[in-house]
Amino acid sequence: MLSNRPDIRPELGLRRVINVSGTMTSLGASIVVPEAVERIGRILTEFVEIGDLHRKASAVIAAATGAEAGTITASASAGISVAVAGCLTGADLARIERLPDTDGLERDEVVIQMGHMVHYGAPVEQAIRLAGAKVVPVGTATHARPYHLEGAIGPRTAAAVYVVSHHAVGYGQIPLPVFCRVCREKGVPVVVDAASEYDLKGFLAAGADLAIYSAHKFLGGPTAGIVAGRKDLVRAAYLQNFGIGRGMKVGKEGIVGAMAALEAWERRDHAAVRALERSHLALWQERLGALPGLRVSVVPDPTQNPLERLKVEVVPEAAGTTAWALAAALAAGEPPVIVRDHEVEHGHFYLDPCNLHPEEAPIVAETIARTLESIRGRPSPTLEDLRERAHWRLLAWPDPA
Ligand SMILES: *Cc1c(COP(=O)(O)O)cnc(C)c1O
Repeated sequence: MLSNRPDIRPELGLRRVINVSGTMTSLGASIVVPEAVERIGRILTEFVEIGDLHRKASAVIAAATGAEAGTITASASAGISVAVAGCLTGADLARIERLPDTDGLERDEVVIQMGHMVHYGAPVEQAIRLAGAKVVPVGTATHARPYHLEGAIGPRTAAAVYVVSHHAVGYGQIPLPVFCRVCREKGVPVVVDAASEYDLKGFLAAGADLAIYSAHKFLGGPTAGIVAGRKDLVRAAYLQNFGIGRGMKVGKEGIVGAMAALEAWERRDHAAVRALERSHLALWQERLGALPGLRVSVVPDPTQNPLERLKVEVVPEAAGTTAWALAAALAAGEPPVIVRDHEVEHGHFYLDPCNLHPEEAPIVAETIARTLESIRGRPSPTLEDLRERAHWRLLAWPDPA
């Protein structure tokens, strides 16, 4: 039933999880594209002059994003830290070595809308504070207007961070072009966290000074981050490799892999990928929509990425279970199927078709159907119980889950 690709997981004693949740660090991010696998394999045994490799990467990033320059970091999260650090220090090695101590720096504050202060596995504002910066929230969770931004910017403001994410509050926020206009009038650079966004050019075109992407999400690269934008700010971010960035360094394999993934992205047949994803959605919609207690619909991505997911609503009275009990049973089952469950308390989860091996789509449908039948009518745990258990399992690491 499984394809004949060599699967290292059984050898390592790991479960063969099927990922319909998206590109999650907790699941190993994404399926790395063959172009990146091949290049990584060829660089691993060679010495390179890393500064020169970074120069080549800058040119590749510039071509892909329309930016003046770019640099590869350990991750998007590291990209935020070094981009912010660069806004604090400029290209000044003495200042760079002084961070995260900001004594003597003219500017060390970073503004960010309260509704953008998300948790992507760690708090975004912590990535800002790692640089030594002080976070200045703008507005309230669901209400930020340009006057809030103007009021938050002062003589000590070094940068403004703008987060594009399905986790960010989806209404009442300042639109990016307006955010950039206000910041430009005040001389404050805008750093956009676009880690999961397919649009490699739009945020810079809208006026951002830096845009940050994950190499290991939609691009299908190895674990790395991409910082693109104004040359002086990219240079200042790069130079953090000789300061706080050292502990977040990316190796030659990450740099070469991210370059290959960017180039492969330009050549990828995006229409064919979408057609395949849509065929998975159609299969799931037909199979799961016929099951009593499930209501399914195809929904667009909340941040306008060109992809859709299947929303699966679990109607407890008809399903004889809850969305969270089904999601937990799927994760615990065989094969483990990990669904997109960040909104599960609303009674639904999503199936993401973007990270599947060819044979997995029908397995997902059959596993959900079988699992639903097996737990139908059984008492459902409360969501809070499930979350508490997950919390204690986390804290017990490395003891077995
Ligand atoms: C995934 C994500 C991150 C973290 O990206 P990494 O490259 O895994 O560090 C940061 N911000 C947003 C909005 C994300 O979606």
